[in-house]
Formats: sequence, C-alpha cells, structure tokens
Amino acid sequence: MPRQQWVIGNWKMNPVTAKAAAELASDLSQSASKLNCSVAAVPSAAHLAAAGNSLSEGPVLLGAQNLCALEVASGAHTGEISAEQLKDLGVSLVLVGHSERRANQGEAGDVLSQKIQRALESGLRPVLCVGEDLATRESGNHLEQVAADLVRVLTPLLDQDWSTLILAYEPIWAIGTGRSANPEDAEQMHQHLRAVLLGLKAEAQHTPILYGGSVKPSNAAAYAACANIDGALVGGASLIADDFMDIARAFS
Ligand code: PEP
Repeated sequence: MPRQQWVIGNWKMNPVTAKAAAELASDLSQSASKLNCSVAAVPSAAHLAAAGNSLSEGPVLLGAQNLCALEVASGAHTGEISAEQLKDLGVSLVLVGHSERRANQGEAGDVLSQKIQRALESGLRPVLCVGEDLATRESGNHLEQVAADLVRVLTPLLDQDWSTLILAYEPIWAIGTGRSANPEDAEQMHQHLRAVLLGLKAEAQHTPILYGGSVKPSNAAAYAACANIDGALVGGASLIADDFMDIARAFS
C-alpha cells in the first residue's frame, strides 16, 4: 500500500494580523480542492481560530505548532494550550520537536515523547521533527545522530498506536537558509530513518517521512521523485499561497 503523501505549511510566527492569516487560509482552501495528497496549514496559536474558520469548509487541515506536554485538559498552566483545547479549535495535527523550539525553548528528549503521547491519546496527529546541525553533517555523523534522537523520543512510546504519526526530517542548516539538502542526501537519510522506525515497530512502514528545509516550487518535484520522501514540511514558501500549492501539486 503506498504511503499517504503530506504537504504541511509551517507559518511560524507569521503573519502579524489575524485578518492576513484568515486571507492566506482562504486562498489555500480555494486552490487545494483537486489535490491528491493531504495538505495542512499550521498557523501560530494566535491565528488558529481565524485561519481555522477560513479552512473549515475546505480540504486543507488545520495544524498547531505546539501543545502542552502535561496530561491535563485545563488548569493552572499559564501560556500552555492543551491537546483538548486544540481539538476544540478544529486542529488535527501538531508539530513536535521543531528545531526552532529545540533551540529557543530547550525542548528535547522526554518532553517530546510526552507531547507525542498527548497527541496520540487525544486524536491529534503528531508531526515529529528531527534533523542534524551543520557541524554534525560536516562530521559525517548525521545518520547516527538523527537516528539516535529518533530512537530516544519514540522508545517510551512503543506501546502506543503509531498509525497517525508523521515524521519530518529537517536538517537544521537547511531551514530558512535557502540551502536545501540535495535530494540524494535527503533520500539516504529517509531510507535510514525508515529502517530505524521499522526496527522499533512494524506498523511504522506506513509512517510518512516528510522532508523539510528550503523546499520551494523549483525543487519540490526532485524530492517528490524520491521513493522514501513522502511529502514536505514547508516554512517560508508556505506563506505564499501559489508557491505552497505548486509544492503540493508536486506531491499530488
Ligand atoms: C520549517 O520551518 O520547518 C522549514 C522547513 O522552513 P523553510 O521551508 O523556510 O526552510
């Protein structure tokens, strides 16, 4: 059975206004109807309601950039958003372990496992992001290092149902830099991560593995042609509806 292809737009802390987020979501919603892949937009928490409203009638799913790791639906946790609150907003997937949160919020290890567990238990699709920094890539140790991170985060979750899990390989040196991984190198990492996933759990044969890092309309088809690249996690180019849709069409 072929794996589902996914194209997910991570809007990060963009745009500034809810009105602009609603307009971008509306543009996506109108142009995504004929695509043969799953498409999601991941606005900032401030714009989940506005963007979600624009997406509610269309095929584009709503994602969130973060969720609370604690096993509570509500309570005294300033600044947090629970999985249940995200569900109530119509969110269906959530990013976990994006390199910007690892670098700026110090997220790693156990907290990532807990967030994935919260997502799996509450019916949100977790999108686990992994990837090496430039020094690791240049040392030649990238396959081992990324695999070790993956094993560390997923091993506590072996008794969970992984059928909704998505993995995104995002080399840190390629995120927002315009310097994308060449498709052969990305494919090599994806093959390796597929083998590591399968070593953990047989059902991981269905887990989509997306590539992220300066994906744009001009390079999307080359990634889409790789046997083990099942879609894209897109940052900058997801803020331009036409560019994002061109990328989605490459995987459709
Ligand atoms: C990202 O932030 O996940 C990302 C891949 O960004 P960009 O496409 O801008 O490199």
